[in-house]
Amino acid sequence: MSGVWVVLQHRDGKLHRGSREAIAAGQQLAAGSGAKATAVLLGEGLGALAAEAAACDLAAVRTADSPVLAAYTPGAYTAALLPALAAARPDYVLFPHTYQSCEYVPALARALDATHLPEAIAFEEMDGALVFRRPVLEGKLQARVRVKGDGPVLVTLQSGAFQADGCVAGSAPVSPLDVDLATLVAGREIVGTEQVAADTIDLSKAAVILAVGRGVGGADKLAPIEELARLLGAEIGASRPVIDSGWLPRDRQIGSSGQTVAPKLYVAIGISGAIQHLVGMKASSVIVAVNKDAGAPIFKVAHYGVVGDLHEVVPALTAAIRELRG
Ligand SMILES: Cc1cc2nc3c(=O)[nH]c(=O)nc-3n(C[C@H](O)[C@H](O)[C@H](O)COP(=O)(O)OP(=O)(O)OC[C@H]3O[C@@H](n4cnc5c(N)ncnc54)[C@H](O)[C@@H]3O)c2cc1C
Repeated sequence: MSGVWVVLQHRDGKLHRGSREAIAAGQQLAAGSGAKATAVLLGEGLGALAAEAAACDLAAVRTADSPVLAAYTPGAYTAALLPALAAARPDYVLFPHTYQSCEYVPALARALDATHLPEAIAFEEMDGALVFRRPVLEGKLQARVRVKGDGPVLVTLQSGAFQADGCVAGSAPVSPLDVDLATLVAGREIVGTEQVAADTIDLSKAAVILAVGRGVGGADKLAPIEELARLLGAEIGASRPVIDSGWLPRDRQIGSSGQTVAPKLYVAIGISGAIQHLVGMKASSVIVAVNKDAGAPIFKVAHYGVVGDLHEVVPALTAAIRELRG
């Protein structure tokens, strides 16, 4: 193995949560060959971020510091990484799996004539070869993928698949990435970024959460769940498709790109249990899942499960609780 690189993501002067997870993964992957991973940072004014990354056990932190990279653009990111990766040709390049990496990593892989392996959740050795695991069929199955041919392999890592606190501390040198910064062109102007939710509801304080998934089928089907929530004194949370569909406001989202919660009771209703959802709720004391598919991954983390149609199960639960309370 000639090396493992980890491309870090950051915003507002802070490393993205997935960046520390990617460093931890890179450290583990590189350790397999007795080496250390190299971290890469793109941006402007990277001093503090580079120092933060350099406090990890890495071979080096390489930076491309330029006003053109101040805001993420796929063109400038690809152009900055391409010459450095083409010259070094590390075996593996790891990225957090985010909207950014989803956008530019496929183009980078094509330009490098490299393999792109998206959404990896683990790696292991099998028959002397490195094999990555990634979810398929909405997380119902996991595929083991072995890459043929020579590197580099560009791997995006699912949020929550590796532990950020598994990142080993150390002291790494910081040096510039081999790229002619004068040649970089953004090709896109960021005219502004907006904060979507102003008055965010803090779900992390809720003792009971009823979380609604895509399985509920629409905003007009929420009334029985709201009724059960009132009865239990619960807050309503949701998976991301529910938010993206506009059925509930964004501050109700639980998961890697939403809130992280750990209530006493978490009822997942019509939620499949994708890893991005699980990372936001798996620390809940008691997890109850209602899902019509007995094979849904949510049942792997649930303490109690009801296999059935939520439109029947939720009113039945409400009726049973009313009866119990007299
Ligand atoms: C970068 C990134 C960040 C992400 N961040 C988040 C995040 O923060 N939070 C998040 O939740 N997701 C996140 N996702 C999306 C995530 O990958 C999944 O797509 C999402 O969690 C799936 O939501 P779901 O379980 O509601 O929907 P689905 O996966 O579609 O599952 C719906 C479930 O409902 C069940 N169902 C259907 N009808 C019924 C019925 N009548 N009765 C009972 N059960 C029924 C089905 O069997 C199925 O299991 C992210 C994805 C990416 C790429």
